[in-house]
Amino acid sequence: MPVWTSTRDPRHHATFAEAAARSMAPGGGLYVPASLPRLDADALLPMPFVDRSVRILQSLLDDVDPDQVEQATRSALDFPVPLVRVTDRIDALELFHGPTLAFKDFGARFLARILAAFGGERERLVLTATSGDTGAAVAHAFWRLPGFRVVVLYPKGRISPLQEKQFCTLGDNVRTYAVDGSFDDCQMMVKACFDDAELRAKHGLVSANSIHVARLVAQTTYYWEAAARRPDAVVAVPSGNFGNVCAGIIARRQGAPIKNLVVATNANSTVPDYLDGAPYAPRESVTTPANAMDVGAPSNFERIRWLFADDRDAMRRELRWGSLSNEGIATELRATWATERYLLDPHGAVAAAILRHVLEDGEHGVFLATAHPAKFLEVVEATVGFRPSIPTSLAERADLPVLSEPLAANARSLFSAI
Ligand SMILES: *Cc1c(COP(=O)(O)O)cnc(C)c1O
Repeated sequence: MPVWTSTRDPRHHATFAEAAARSMAPGGGLYVPASLPRLDADALLPMPFVDRSVRILQSLLDDVDPDQVEQATRSALDFPVPLVRVTDRIDALELFHGPTLAFKDFGARFLARILAAFGGERERLVLTATSGDTGAAVAHAFWRLPGFRVVVLYPKGRISPLQEKQFCTLGDNVRTYAVDGSFDDCQMMVKACFDDAELRAKHGLVSANSIHVARLVAQTTYYWEAAARRPDAVVAVPSGNFGNVCAGIIARRQGAPIKNLVVATNANSTVPDYLDGAPYAPRESVTTPANAMDVGAPSNFERIRWLFADDRDAMRRELRWGSLSNEGIATELRATWATERYLLDPHGAVAAAILRHVLEDGEHGVFLATAHPAKFLEVVEATVGFRPSIPTSLAERADLPVLSEPLAANARSLFSAI
C-alpha cells in the first residue's frame, strides 16, 4: 500500500489526497511512495492504454475511491499515444497529441480531474508561473472546471507568440499576467504567495508545479505503454526538472519491462556530470533551443536521490545518460529529417541523439517525443528550412486576442491582483 512519505522525513506519512492537497511535505520535502506495489505485467501489457492506466493509477492511489480514479483517468487521458517508427532500431513514443501539444498534458489533466473529484466546498485558486509549456497545460486542464480559478504568470515578451496565443486567449476562469521581468521573477512572485499562510488559506491556493504527486503518478502510464509496444527497450527521456524520468523509474520498479532508462539533457548537464563522477553541482541554467529543459537545478533530483537511497553507483547501474550541445540538437533535427523523414522537436532531438549514442548492438530503443515540432516553429524552421504544419488546435487560437494583463515584477502587485 503506497502511503506517501517525505524525502526529508521518513516518519512523515500522508494519504494521496493529503499529499495532493499540500503539494510539498512539511519542511520542504517532496512526496514519494513509501512502498511500490509490484504490478502483474503479464496481465497489464495486453490491455488498451486507458484501461491499463486505470489499473496502474488505482494501485498507486489505493486510498482513493477506485471509481473516482477511473473517471479522472478516463477523462484526463482521452488522446492518442502513438508509437512511431523512426529507424529500424528506434521508435518515438509521441506524447504530444493532447490539447496543448506537449507531454505536460498527461500530468496537468490528471491533476485537475483528481482534485476536482476530491471536491471541497470552496473555490480554489491554481497559481503558477511558466516559461511556456507548463502554463499552457495547466490553464487548459483547469479551463471551465467548476470550483477552480487559474492565474498564470509569464515573462512578457519571453515566450513565443504561438505559446502566448495557446493559453492567454482562453478567458473564463483563466487569467494570465504578462510580467515585466524574467521567469525567475515570476517564480519568486508565486513563491511569495505560497509562503504567506494567510493568502494560502484565503484563496485556497493550489500548486500545479512539476513536483506535484498527481503529475508524477499520471506520467508512469506512458512508460507502461512504451513497454507494452516494445518490451525490454532502452527508453530515453528528455529531461529538465526530472519529473518525467522519476515516473519512468517508478514504472520500472513496478515491473514495466524496460531494459534501461536514459537521462538525456541539453547543455544544462548538472545530472549527467554527476553521473560521470563529478560532485553534484546545481547551477544557473543556460539557454538552449530545447528551452523547456533549460534547468540548472532540477527540482525533482531530490526524488531521484531518494529512489536510489542516495547511492550514485546504483543510479549508474540502472540509468544511462548523456547531454547534447545546441549544435548537436540542430544536427540531429536536420539529419533525422533528411534520412528518415521524421520531424523532431528540439526536446525529442536531445533524447533521440543520446539514445543512438548509448544503444548497444541488438538493443531496441524508444525515445519520448515530448512536444509537437510546431510548438517550436522558429527553431524547427530555421533548422530544416520549412515551416512544420500547425495542428488545428493551435492554429484555431492564433487569430484570437491575447487577454493578458500587464503586471509589475513584485510580489505586492500579485497579492493585489489575485
Ligand atoms: C517540461 C518539458 C520537458 C522536461 O520534463 P521534466 O519532467 O521537467 O524533466 C521536456 N520536454 C518538454 C517539451 C517539456 O515541456
